Amino acid sequence: MESKAYNAFKMAQSQFDKVADLLDLEQSTRDLLRNPLREYHFSIPIRMDDGSSKVFRGFRVQHNDARGPGKGGIRFHPQETVDTVRALAMWMTWKCAVVNIPLGGGKGGVICDPHNLSMREQEQICRGWIRQISRDIGPLRDVPAPDVMTNAQHMLWMLDEFEAIHGAKYPGAITGKPVGMGGSLGRTEATGYGVIFTVREALREMKIRAENTVASVQGFGNVAQYAIRLYNEMGGTVCCVSSWDQADQTSYAFRKADGIDIDELMAITDRFGGIDKAKARDAGYEVLPGDAWIEQEADILLPCALENQITGENVGRIHKRVKIISEGANGPTTPEADAVIQQRGIFMIPDFLANAGGVTCSYFEQVQSNMNYFWEKGEVLGKLDVKMTSAYLDVSRLARERDIYMRDAAYVISINRVAQACKDRGWV
Ligand code: GLU
Repeated sequence: MESKAYNAFKMAQSQFDKVADLLDLEQSTRDLLRNPLREYHFSIPIRMDDGSSKVFRGFRVQHNDARGPGKGGIRFHPQETVDTVRALAMWMTWKCAVVNIPLGGGKGGVICDPHNLSMREQEQICRGWIRQISRDIGPLRDVPAPDVMTNAQHMLWMLDEFEAIHGAKYPGAITGKPVGMGGSLGRTEATGYGVIFTVREALREMKIRAENTVASVQGFGNVAQYAIRLYNEMGGTVCCVSSWDQADQTSYAFRKADGIDIDELMAITDRFGGIDKAKARDAGYEVLPGDAWIEQEADILLPCALENQITGENVGRIHKRVKIISEGANGPTTPEADAVIQQRGIFMIPDFLANAGGVTCSYFEQVQSNMNYFWEKGEVLGKLDVKMTSAYLDVSRLARERDIYMRDAAYVISINRVAQACKDRGWV
């Protein structure tokens, strides 16, 4: 469900302004950080399979690179807007800063719907996107990665085009590449696992055993799938997942009170995370309309789909049993809903902390690519756990000490680090 006046960039700016006031940040630093440093808007003309030509709009926004090259994914989505990309780029700056990796924030997008494009057409979009931006990205400038509806194959096409243009191998120019082609083991799992590392730490602080908890999950793409796997391994039960139904252009929730079976659901899920309703019913799932995932009797909510999902309209439907929300998606909670969640005392693990596992593993991928020496999966995931856990503990400690909301505490840490880098460089 979308709230009407929603604008992701305004929301990202209002979150920033709130903490800038708290920090008494000087005006020049505010002016610098509440807008992107640079942005690129361009057209990508494609020859379609039927011989016709079609033009797609593409974007790359570089929010801030004071702490290191820009970093962030590229999304393919029919409702993509430049304001969404601006917000996502800004959140990437805070995300890299909160886990303390030497990267800035960027994000890209193309307005397109991969459901309706062949693989060849998608390849053309990837190559066309790189052709438009190839001089303004790169390992020392800004490094794209996968995001909503893009994957390792898309990244390899992009890298191939980048290397063809520049006439040399640049494995650090793109992350999220396939394993064996410069990709890191564990990258696919990293975002979802990272979400659950933060949940595990929150449960530990609350002295609650994971095996006694139930979670409800929004989304069934890469982030949700691996979050569910690790949460199940910890003993938790997922009572409900929701997924987007392309044919009906709406979401459905799939409920099994004694716990969904991830492998059973994966077997009836398409590559975009869409679950087959008829087959799910046959397998004993209750199929509920719309955003029913939000009102389940659960201890933990994991919004792992898109922005603008927990809104003023549906926040009141969150069950009184819910204790923790960990945001696997970027920007799933509107400020209006956030205020209600804070006031109800639900423990919020904010997006740019909860879902930082993906970019942290991207950073490991760059490090491995630079050394041309690749680590075992256990080593990657072990290092990821260390980074995520220490970032979580820094934020939760600050939230407790200053008695502030977790989202604000995460912002305080990130904004301080980025503002300091800008100051040290003499920018402000
Ligand atoms: N797209 C992911 C995110 O939003 C990962 C970005 C990256 O690996 O650079 O965090």
